[in-house]
Amino acid sequence: MSTAHDTETTQPVLEIEGLAHRLGARELFTDLSLTLRVGESVAVTGPSGSGKSTLLSCVLGLIKPTAGSMKVTGTDIVGLRPARLAALRARALGMVFQFGELLPELSPLDNVVLAALLARTDRCGVRDRAQKLLDDLGVPQAATSEELSGGERQRTAVARALINEPALLLADEPTGALDTETRDRTAELLFDLPRRYGCGLLVVTHDPGVAARADRTLRLEAGALTAIPFEKSA
Ligand code: ADP
Ligand code: MG
Repeated sequence: MSTAHDTETTQPVLEIEGLAHRLGARELFTDLSLTLRVGESVAVTGPSGSGKSTLLSCVLGLIKPTAGSMKVTGTDIVGLRPARLAALRARALGMVFQFGELLPELSPLDNVVLAALLARTDRCGVRDRAQKLLDDLGVPQAATSEELSGGERQRTAVARALINEPALLLADEPTGALDTETRDRTAELLFDLPRRYGCGLLVVTHDPGVAARADRTLRLEAGALTAIPFEKSA
C-alpha cells in the first residue's frame, strides 16, 4: 500500500507514540502509535466501545492519557498547560461531530463566523472568508441552520472546522446520522479536504464504506492500531 504522502519529507501534523490509557480496570489503549502527515487522510475503524471517540478526545487534549506522547504540529500536548493547550487546539485543530452540533438558531454563516471569532484575534474579513468556505462546500444561504438538510448541516460543520485553517481535521462518525446517498457525498467531500485545504484528516468511523475512502485505514483492536490492507476506493 502506498500513498502520495508517505514520504519522510512531508511534515507530520500528528505523532502519537506509546499511547496508553486505562479506564478503571480496562486498558483501553496499551501501546498505540500513529503518524499522520499534511495532505494525508487516515480512517480508524473498530466496534462500538473500542475507544475511537476516546482517541479523538486524547488528541484534542480533553482526556489525559495514562502514558505516551502526542505531538500536534510538533508540540507534545500531554502535560501542556491549559491555556497553551487551548491556544494550540484553536490554532491547529478542527473537529466535526456526528450530528454537526451547530447552534440551531444561528444561520450557517454565523455558526462559522462564531468559530473564527472564538479562536482568533484577527477579525478582518472573517465574514467574507466564512461565506467563501460555505460557497466552496456547497452550503445554501439560510436564516437558521435548522432549515438545512442533514448533509448541508454536516457541510456547515466542516466549514466551521476549517475556518481557522487547522493543520489537522478530526471527525467522529461524521456520516453516522446521514442516509446512504448523503453519506457517500459527505464522505467524498471529507476525504478531498486534505488535498483542497492542505490539512491532515483523521476520521473515526464504524462504517467500512466510509473508511475505505481514506489513504490508510487502521483498526483499533486490543488497545492498538493495526493496518487494514485494502486499496483506497475513490
Ligand atoms: P467508541 O467511540 O469506539 O464507540 P468510546 O471511546 O466512546 O468508544 O468508549 C470506549 C469505552 O470507554 C467504552 O467502553 C465506554 O463505555 C468507555 N467510556 C467512555 N467514556 C467514558 C467515561 N467518561 N467514563 C468511563 N468510561 C467511559
Ligand atoms: Mg464513538
